[in-house]
Amino acid sequence: MSSWEEVYKTTPPWDVGVPQPAFVELVKAGELNSGSVLDVGCGTGENAFYLAGNGFSVTGVDLTRRAIIAAKAKSVERKLKVDFRIGNALSLDFKDGVFDNVIDSGLFHTFPDDDRPVYAREVARVLAPRGRYFMLCFSEKEPTDWGGPRRITRKEIEATFSLLFKINHIRDASFTTRFHSDGAKAYLTSATRIPA
Ligand code: SAH
Repeated sequence: MSSWEEVYKTTPPWDVGVPQPAFVELVKAGELNSGSVLDVGCGTGENAFYLAGNGFSVTGVDLTRRAIIAAKAKSVERKLKVDFRIGNALSLDFKDGVFDNVIDSGLFHTFPDDDRPVYAREVARVLAPRGRYFMLCFSEKEPTDWGGPRRITRKEIEATFSLLFKINHIRDASFTTRFHSDGAKAYLTSATRIPA
């Protein structure tokens, strides 16, 4: 069994039962393109449900079967329709250009260096021309003494995405976890796919 399956046997630290405030703020500010959203590495779907409740047509993909089962159960309970599927972000099972937006809450910071360009290409591929990508990751400003995921620098974000995307902003943000009362230090990136 993969270690991701293992962590979803109990409630993982990021599975906070509410959407990440950074995505709530993006919706309130009208920064997402209207239409469809792919939540990649969606976990049990809190951000996906928030977007579905706000009129977006949402697809959620996660590698971990247990997470998708939990997300589907919540979908029934909450009467919110999201198309949840098991899938790999490094090889997405969608045609080119089908999503107006892709969101990523805590997936990018899990990848080893070699996977980063593969992932950036996949996100760009499934986005419509001028589709937008929004990514929340732990930042270099979060202390490393307690463990947790990789810390990401602005330079790393730029190096990974700027070939295929125009980076609109990389903002200080916080990442709500079950271990932090006021969130871990994070970056929220907004990037627009450069038409091929
Ligand atoms: N977005 C969710 C989960 C973040 S944790 C939230 O905010 O709660 C990172 C998630 O990415 C986990 O659910 C893990 O199963 C998933 N994941 C890891 N590698 C993946 C990959 N290659 N493709 C798709 N999902 C992946």
